[in-house]
Amino acid sequence: MNNLRQMKIAIIGGGIGGLTTALALKQSGHEVTIYESAPEIKPVGAGIIMANNAMQIFDKLGVRKTIENAGHKISNIKITDAQLNIISASDLTKFEKKYGVYNVAIHRAELQKILANEIGFQNIQLSKRLLQIEQKSDFKLTFDDNTSIIADIVIGADGIKSVVRNQLFGTGTIRDTNQRCWRGVSELDWTSKYNHEAFEAWGKGKRFGFVKISNKEVYWYAVINESLRKNNANITELFKDFHPEIVKIILETPKDKIIFSDIIDLQPINQWQKGRVCLIGDAAHATTPNMGQGACQAVEDAYVLGKLFRQRKSAEEVFAKYEKLRMKKAHYIVNTSWTIGKVAHFQNNVAVWLRNTLVKIMPKSANEKQLDKVFNIDYEIT
Ligand SMILES: Cc1cc2nc3c(=O)[nH]c(=O)nc-3n(C[C@H](O)[C@H](O)[C@H](O)COP(=O)(O)OP(=O)(O)OC[C@H]3O[C@@H](n4cnc5c(N)ncnc54)[C@H](O)[C@@H]3O)c2cc1C
Repeated sequence: MNNLRQMKIAIIGGGIGGLTTALALKQSGHEVTIYESAPEIKPVGAGIIMANNAMQIFDKLGVRKTIENAGHKISNIKITDAQLNIISASDLTKFEKKYGVYNVAIHRAELQKILANEIGFQNIQLSKRLLQIEQKSDFKLTFDDNTSIIADIVIGADGIKSVVRNQLFGTGTIRDTNQRCWRGVSELDWTSKYNHEAFEAWGKGKRFGFVKISNKEVYWYAVINESLRKNNANITELFKDFHPEIVKIILETPKDKIIFSDIIDLQPINQWQKGRVCLIGDAAHATTPNMGQGACQAVEDAYVLGKLFRQRKSAEEVFAKYEKLRMKKAHYIVNTSWTIGKVAHFQNNVAVWLRNTLVKIMPKSANEKQLDKVFNIDYEIT
């Protein structure tokens, strides 16, 4: 059997990567089933910013407007000091005009609901944690509920600790940045405040980002160097020297809704595909969140796969081309993001002063060049 449209395609993992890939493949005329370990499509992690590159793809997939309506458009990104004094501002309007879409901040629950609705819940199997994957002429997938299925093609979208990657590729070193992160959504009536702006306030060895996701909800994240978390100090204590608005955002968030995680990534790997199996999203190229690009890169994977599947080549050809087209950009993001994370967390007074001064005087054109490189999704798919 070599007609891709008759093949049984299994996507492992129903995060943003798996869901977007399912949508892209469905729209290119293929039958796909997502196998997701969670009992519901329940996103971890408060809010998210879907940048211009991802929104261009959501536009092509027909869900841009729905996502925009459920979130908050962002036209300016500001880096400030801990007191919200501006160090640098990136005006995104140039890119909005160039590519015809906005960056959008949205609750993850809203985004995943929109994608799942488009795919259709009949194509998403929940409570299916993949335990074992055996590759012969096809794939035997065994789940933790003692069921198994046979698939012709497997797409591993099962996140940074991917079972598909571990069992079929045997690769993947997870790197710990020694930075720790809290995330939350706080309810604040900010109808006339901070519209269409995202902020990241840099202190010494710590930073705090916030952005509106609706008129009454603010998504925030706080990151600190592990060395500063003495005696398990709580987040309010750690950020008490930041601007009062920031302290207020933290205090207004229900404590049991605050999510704590380590900031980790996947050391770049050079193989994402093998025959009729491939890896996408965090399973292939998990990055630190410093460029806000992890999920956006998963969306780019989905887009490229959707286009290649449309050409009706063999799965082997599709995956080899996908890897060739996507790897350079994904690795650029992982490596650049890793460096930004180090610079943003300088603790020493002189280093902080020097960093802030350099960021302030950095030519606008250099910043715009980097943003354009990230937002451009012009893949040569022949
Ligand atoms: C603090 C922070 C902020 C971030 N902010 C942004 C941002 O603003 N913009 C952005 O683009 N990115 C951001 N990211 C990155 C983004 O969250 C990830 O890159 C993105 O969620 C990856 O999507 P994914 O679908 O590849 O993997 P995941 O989201 O990890 O999804 C994997 C899915 O697979 C399922 N799964 C796992 N194992 C199995 C198994 N064995 N069997 C079946 N199912 C399984 C999981 O339950 C999950 O649903 C941020 C990350 C962090 C930590």
